[in-house]
Amino acid sequence: MTKLMLHACCGPCSLEPTRIFSEEGTEFIIDYENPNIFPPEDYEHRLSTLKEYVTEPQKVELIEGEYDPQTWEEQVAIYGTDRPKRCRACYRLRLERAAEHAVEHGCDSLTTTLTISPYQFTDIIFEELQRAADRYGIKAICCDFRSCYPEATRRSRALGMYRQNYCGCRFSIAEAAAERKERKKQLEHEKYLKHRALMWAAAEGCTNQMSQL
Ligand code: SF4
Repeated sequence: MTKLMLHACCGPCSLEPTRIFSEEGTEFIIDYENPNIFPPEDYEHRLSTLKEYVTEPQKVELIEGEYDPQTWEEQVAIYGTDRPKRCRACYRLRLERAAEHAVEHGCDSLTTTLTISPYQFTDIIFEELQRAADRYGIKAICCDFRSCYPEATRRSRALGMYRQNYCGCRFSIAEAAAERKERKKQLEHEKYLKHRALMWAAAEGCTNQMSQL
């Protein structure tokens, strides 16, 4: 491999992949290719975080794709709340553009930071990565970065980086909020069950003590 194009979705997700590639001596450049992100202010916030904490300190070349939410709406939003179909179309759009940029910038291989998130569809990402790479005659490097997620979370928190709490598109804002609400409900239920078990254990203890009198 001579040069790798790393498609990056944001700063926190790029921390560990860039550390790994730097340590193993892989020559790489980064493509911030994310027309999916809504609202535009968040697109800018993620980009400035990527620059401040990843590309500038490591002196890695950064390419920025065209931010055109209109194309995302036409090619991806049509799948609405059907997440697997919508996310596949979203990966396709971003990775095809990243593959095109890879060729333009003399890279012979392509990978993505997207696989670091346990909330993404890893198998679909790999299929779309392969498809995009084949289309542009370069090699797909299917790195599964999910094991890096805890360390990326720890490091990004320690650095005080901006950490968005949704994937990126307008649909994912509502989906992430619903998931957080569901998790909160589950935690409260578990807390209630634990409390009830403790109360029963205490009541049983009292009954036993009474029966010994
Ligand atoms: S949830 Fe994420 S990957 Fe799926 S369509 Fe939205 S931005 Fe794209």
